[in-house]
Amino acid sequence: MDFISREKQAYSQVFNRLPVCITRGKGGLLYDSQGREYLDMFGGIAVCSVGHCHPRVTDAITRQAGKLVHASNWVYTEPQLDLAEKIRVLTGLDKVFFTNSGTESVEAAIKLARKQTGRKSIISCQKSFHGRTMGALALTWKSEYRAPFEPVMPGAKFIEYNNPESLKEAVAADTAAFIVEPVQGEAGVIIPDPDYLKAAKDITGDNGSLLIVDEVQTGFGRTGEWFGYSTSGIQPDILCLAKGMGGGFPIGAMVSAEGVDFAKGNHGGTYPGSPLACTAALEVIKVIEDEGLVENSRQMGVMLREKLSALGLENRGLGLMNAFKADGRDTVEALLDKGVLTINSGDYVRILPALNITEKNITYFTERLEEVLEKIK
Ligand SMILES: *Cc1c(COP(=O)(O)O)cnc(C)c1O
Repeated sequence: MDFISREKQAYSQVFNRLPVCITRGKGGLLYDSQGREYLDMFGGIAVCSVGHCHPRVTDAITRQAGKLVHASNWVYTEPQLDLAEKIRVLTGLDKVFFTNSGTESVEAAIKLARKQTGRKSIISCQKSFHGRTMGALALTWKSEYRAPFEPVMPGAKFIEYNNPESLKEAVAADTAAFIVEPVQGEAGVIIPDPDYLKAAKDITGDNGSLLIVDEVQTGFGRTGEWFGYSTSGIQPDILCLAKGMGGGFPIGAMVSAEGVDFAKGNHGGTYPGSPLACTAALEVIKVIEDEGLVENSRQMGVMLREKLSALGLENRGLGLMNAFKADGRDTVEALLDKGVLTINSGDYVRILPALNITEKNITYFTERLEEVLEKIK
């Protein structure tokens, strides 16, 4: 286990990793430095939306890498325009700003909400996760994440999730925005009532503040819909995207409704929206469309939850964003021994596989899980 000691010596000791060193991937499978095969049921934390090294994505990245990797936003580049137009159509929103990660999409949203409204405070939810940079961190619920770094961005206020009354009480004259996940991911997959986003949009609208929908985890088919807000009957004022968007290539976006935009020079970035990143994301999105993966996410999710229930496990989820209750990290480690990769949030094990997962692999997973549960009992 040379990689463990090397990491200990050379890398910041900030991550709590599983003891495997992954060297390559193909479809729903990963391989480690010993050549051992794993079924990937966490998809690089809801990122690898079309599986590992999808031939179309590999090919698109390879071709673009030989043509142009980076030119900056000092000039125009075509892949950036192609992807922006695609996101505009998919979301029904108006303007796109690319980023390199989820937390950057949230930072951009915070700045835009403040600039647009001229107000300073942002309301967030208990148990939320919005990122680790000083603005996004201020809106992230867990105090262990925030406490060592105070003061973070001032003006954040936390309310109860899935409770429109609590939002109604919290909005005030200085409220710039309410930021909310359509399904809380890091909290362990918490699904609100179907009319929650609609209520939030009405309340923020009446208050003259903006609704920021953080779909960094739920976006691009994860929940069995293109976006978590797709069935809500409303449009966000600002939408935050990342994770599944690039299928593993780092890229995110902040997308805004008509009339909600920065002025020249308000925000920027050297890297965001590079030709390489945009080419990767555009191909991932086309694969999701061409292979019917939003529909597959919905169907495989239903099947997965039926199998989890058949094992007597308390479970919840939408599409391929799922969690079940079973000793958290102990179950994750026992599954790792069986060649299955998962991730936990507290007591819950989260299942976030590629959107093109097959029935066969779901069955393989639940069979290994059954063996693990028998051992734990
Ligand atoms: C993961 C996540 C983020 C942060 O994204 P990073 O790419 O890790 O910075 C923000 N919001 C939500 C809802 C997330 O799940």
